[in-house]
Amino acid sequence: MVSQQKAMLYTRYPFSSIVIYNGVTVLHYLFGGIGIIIGYNFSWIAYLLGSLYLAFAFAQMYVLMPLIVCPNCVYYRLKNSLCISGLNVISKRIAREGEIKEFPKRSEGLFCHNNLYMAAKVVPILAMIPALILNFSFLLLAIFLTVVGLLLLRIFVVFPKIACVHCRAMNICPNAEAMGLRSK
Ligand code: SF4
Repeated sequence: MVSQQKAMLYTRYPFSSIVIYNGVTVLHYLFGGIGIIIGYNFSWIAYLLGSLYLAFAFAQMYVLMPLIVCPNCVYYRLKNSLCISGLNVISKRIAREGEIKEFPKRSEGLFCHNNLYMAAKVVPILAMIPALILNFSFLLLAIFLTVVGLLLLRIFVVFPKIACVHCRAMNICPNAEAMGLRSK
């Protein structure tokens, strides 16, 4: 449980935080996709799986999130706001405003967006484990460790210290609740 925070809540996140959040996200997907392709020896199936993974990972983050999660978020309706991903700006252009009370639904059900989001992080790690056994190389090991490192960085630094701790959706977000974060 994270202790009660006195961190400032941001209506507009600093540009550096948005770059870190999206940088960690994009690098995770790119290294994950490349790791799958290298791990399965550049075969046609490796390209197919790597491409499918990349399409899924980027689509769930940069298309589905602004379409189905962001419209229910407080940042969608806050004037001149900029959330940690910056996706509230895109969401306002492509989706109609939703309901704040629907926001916690992001974590409800097997195919909820939270599960898709986590799948996009975990799938390449799971996919590279058999590849490491079958086609070991130090390059693949380095990519695997990089993706694991990016996941740990997200969980232990980006979420609790850069993103969620300053978030105005903290009090209704199931992810913040899972981390024990609540503003007073
Ligand atoms: S609390 Fe964290 S996970 Fe929830 S909306 Fe804010 S930044 Fe995103």
